[in-house]
Amino acid sequence: MNINQKSWLKVEVNSDFPIQNLPYGIIKLASGKIVAATRIGDVVIDLAALYELGYFNGVKELKNNVFESDTLNAFMALGKRAWANVRAVLTDLFDEVNDLLRENDAHKKQVLFDQNEVVNLLPMAVGDYTDFYSSIEHATNVGIMFRGKDNALMPNWKHLPVGYHGRSSSIVVSGTNIHRPKGQMKPADQDLPSFGASKLMDFELEMAFVTGGQTQLGDSISVDEAEDYIFGMIIFNDLSARDIQAWEYVPLGPFLGKSFGSITSPWIVTLDALDYFRTQSPKQEPEVLPYLKSTGKRSFDINLEVFLQPKGGEENLICESNHKYLYWNISQQLAHQSVNGCNINVGDVYASGTISGPTDKSFGSMLELTWRGSKPITLSDGSERKFINDNDTIVMRAHCQKDGLRIGFGESLCQILPAKE
Ligand code: MN
Repeated sequence: MNINQKSWLKVEVNSDFPIQNLPYGIIKLASGKIVAATRIGDVVIDLAALYELGYFNGVKELKNNVFESDTLNAFMALGKRAWANVRAVLTDLFDEVNDLLRENDAHKKQVLFDQNEVVNLLPMAVGDYTDFYSSIEHATNVGIMFRGKDNALMPNWKHLPVGYHGRSSSIVVSGTNIHRPKGQMKPADQDLPSFGASKLMDFELEMAFVTGGQTQLGDSISVDEAEDYIFGMIIFNDLSARDIQAWEYVPLGPFLGKSFGSITSPWIVTLDALDYFRTQSPKQEPEVLPYLKSTGKRSFDINLEVFLQPKGGEENLICESNHKYLYWNISQQLAHQSVNGCNINVGDVYASGTISGPTDKSFGSMLELTWRGSKPITLSDGSERKFINDNDTIVMRAHCQKDGLRIGFGESLCQILPAKE
């Protein structure tokens, strides 16, 4: 990657989308047409139109217009070489010295759109969804709250990336508002459970990776091969109802407390775009089993932010964390997921689990930020929050920054609506 490259399309200084990013998404055009797209600055690029106009003729993996689709799955399924070749075409076509498209007004009219004129849709048809629990700070915080300091981490935690199989139907794209869930809960001061709207609505600051490769039942993916199957990453707000979760989760894990809405960012940022921001994973002690051993830089330095915005009010920055804090990296997660022969599909979503950092300000959930409601957060309008109120909006943003290059993910935005009658 040339970090100094510029595009002939305008990119504002603090944009998440310089020419080095080239994320993939699905957009609905003003005409109603739904296509795969990429983005530079605030300009959205219709890849289906680029294909029809012949700009991808040199990419032999593209045998038909996979971009004329309401999901990226067909494109992702073409594999790593196709992803790299399409990226190479875009990197060249939009370079500031390339006038092939820049000087063709008729083509530009068919290909380029203002971000404000399109609607972003969920970029992939989600197959299976796994949620890991890979932040040692988060697992320790929650462990202390529920089991005390001496038993904070379960005995398995440092030996395998703990996870559970989630619900994929309720994964939605940024801008989708979610009603407060209803369910059973049993507060500590009651003998019997009651039914009603959750009182302890929370977000979970997570990132997720999306697989673009497939394996057969019985196959396993090694840590070294894992990235060949990973198409890219998204922001993932895994909404959680803590009161429903606390009552239901023993012994089989989260269920209805987590399956009423998880909100992704709309653009999948590829590992090629993130390559410049690799970093070492935290040292793992005790040593992990051979199938989980990871060498080299398999973690990513991605700044994460969470904002809470009351209705009609301003955004309050309530959390700053980083993807690099994860104890288990994405390659170890995929290796563990598949070690038993579980087959991997194109469009699967693998979320990190809440990403908390070492300081109070870096905790990735209200549960931790307010320490179960015992230390409320004061917002700029003077109001307090222990958990999320009705009509609050949660915005998550993520970006990498190094040597003057910024590559970002845009945002995951969701307003919590009152429970349905
Ligand atoms: Mn989660």
